[in-house]
Amino acid sequence: MTKIHKLSNDLINKIAAGEVVERPSSIVKELIENSIDAGSTKIYITLKEGGIDYIRIVDNGKGLSKEEFGLLFERHATSKINSLHDLENNLHLGFRGEALASISSVSKVKFMSFPAQQESGFQIDNTGEIKPVPMPKGTQIEIKDLFYNVPVRKKYLKTPSTEYKNCLTLLQEYAICHPEVEFSLTHNDKPIFKYKATNQQDRLAQIYGEDFSEKLLPVYYSGADLKIEGFIGKPELAVSKKTEQHFLINGRPIKTHTFNYAIKQAFGSLIFPQEKPQFFLWLTLDPQDVDMNVHPRKTEARFHFEGIIFRKLIRAVKQSLEQTDLTKQLDLAKSSAESFISTPTSHPDKQFINPRPTKSSFNFQNPGSSYKIQGSKGSLIDYFNQNRQKNDHLHTPDQPENKLKPLVQIENSYILCQSSESIVIIDQHAAHERVLYEKFKSEANSQKAQSQSLLTPIQVQLTTQEVETLRESQETLSKIGFSISNLGDNTIAVNAVPLKFSKNSLDTVLKGLLDDISSQGDPESLSELEDVVINYAACRGAIKFGQPLTRDEMIALIQEMEKIQHKQYSCPHGRPSKVEITFKDLEKQFKRLK
Ligand code: ADP
Ligand code: MG
Repeated sequence: MTKIHKLSNDLINKIAAGEVVERPSSIVKELIENSIDAGSTKIYITLKEGGIDYIRIVDNGKGLSKEEFGLLFERHATSKINSLHDLENNLHLGFRGEALASISSVSKVKFMSFPAQQESGFQIDNTGEIKPVPMPKGTQIEIKDLFYNVPVRKKYLKTPSTEYKNCLTLLQEYAICHPEVEFSLTHNDKPIFKYKATNQQDRLAQIYGEDFSEKLLPVYYSGADLKIEGFIGKPELAVSKKTEQHFLINGRPIKTHTFNYAIKQAFGSLIFPQEKPQFFLWLTLDPQDVDMNVHPRKTEARFHFEGIIFRKLIRAVKQSLEQTDLTKQLDLAKSSAESFISTPTSHPDKQFINPRPTKSSFNFQNPGSSYKIQGSKGSLIDYFNQNRQKNDHLHTPDQPENKLKPLVQIENSYILCQSSESIVIIDQHAAHERVLYEKFKSEANSQKAQSQSLLTPIQVQLTTQEVETLRESQETLSKIGFSISNLGDNTIAVNAVPLKFSKNSLDTVLKGLLDDISSQGDPESLSELEDVVINYAACRGAIKFGQPLTRDEMIALIQEMEKIQHKQYSCPHGRPSKVEITFKDLEKQFKRLK
């Protein structure tokens, strides 16, 4: 063991760098914050291999004079604060003076700047050499070979593709936060996006597309110490699996479960308990009332008047919801009962909270507003009853080859059956999901996907992340029967879907699928990716819980189940798809059998 001694500056910096610089996206974050602090109105980002090999940020901010270069890579060297008072009143994103010191200790850095008062630009690299460079006004920073000198940390980096997506997510977050700034991104020499400077609403349209931004409602509150502005997604958007929940507080994206919960409360019974509202809310607070110095990467904050902000948020969001006539979305008279039943929600497990044709579907009331839900010629229940009577004509005699005989559908969700020795209850969604899963799986293996072409291809607008995920998974998707073409500008056309796949709300389904794929991180292998796609496709394509079935449909489902009988009777998520009670068990229960 060595004696107690002071660590060298170099080692201190490398250790400290662990806090600030975890991956390329954390570097990008620090650099664009510096550019924003420098008053830039244009920030251009270039990445190679997800930022692992190369990151370059070009801004048109006020720059840094070459006299100040000396302290640039020193820890605790900042131009932004001088005192505790400054810290408490700081309007800058930076204040710790740590980023450039950390970054330059774990990568090769070139910093070039041409401030207004200087006659040309100068460059400093992390060897300390300073020399003039031709460049436009502003600052440019180049980072190469991240963690070249700290191999342990390099090991923890993900694939370039995942690191790229992390950067993309981060950049979009800052682009949302600062619509007044023009952002552009180039990755591996390919231009990815360019968002011109604009207002909050247009920025959301630039990122998510017009279709999405049209489903947003404005929120506004302005008081002495707090301003809330932004948008919430109409309740219908809450069914989407990809939930956009953004708080942009004093120029910084901040994660806060507490305030997320406030918005959820404000939506009340307008959305189902499992659903998450979508929102983009910019909060402006007195810097004295918020402490940004609680997380090494400043992604969380502490609020002095958290309770007050919480209540104001609820008030503002409720007001926005009340001022909007939401009747249309829930007006069952307009949307036919049929489409109401068959509209899938996006998360696989949402099947279980689909509007069920029971009374509870009609308790969908906003406590604050007075809209009414109208049923079509009575109610959905009437519709189902009519339908059931219609279907009764279609009843066919039981097919003798069927080992299981369906007796009745219970709660539009379970099929009660009888076999020669037992009573069997089938969970219709889980069972069909298993059937589709096996079908897709064997089609993918045999490369014989059966697909149905769409007469008119369906156009779907994706985000840049989604396009990237699609590019990676396109091969698998086509293996199971999807045909998708890229129309450019993040718009794709779905030309064909797997046979027996539900075509309802294809856009939501597709987005959910892409989200599922990307939330898996780096799939280890193509077959793992294939499994995610197939799982999702099976779940989304399956008959839903709460969906009335004709007797023919029940028979068909049982037949399909029997074809895969050698497989376990469970859905791919592992939930059981059938429960069996043997007559013997029954006899025991009724004490007929000892
Ligand atoms: P901090 O942002 O906490 O001050 P950094 O290490 O990120 O610490 O930056 C150190 C200093 O370098 C900043 O205080 C600023 O003076 C200068 N600087 C960094 N990036 C830029 C830039 N893009 N434009 C102008 N000055 C910059
Ligand atoms: Mg900084």
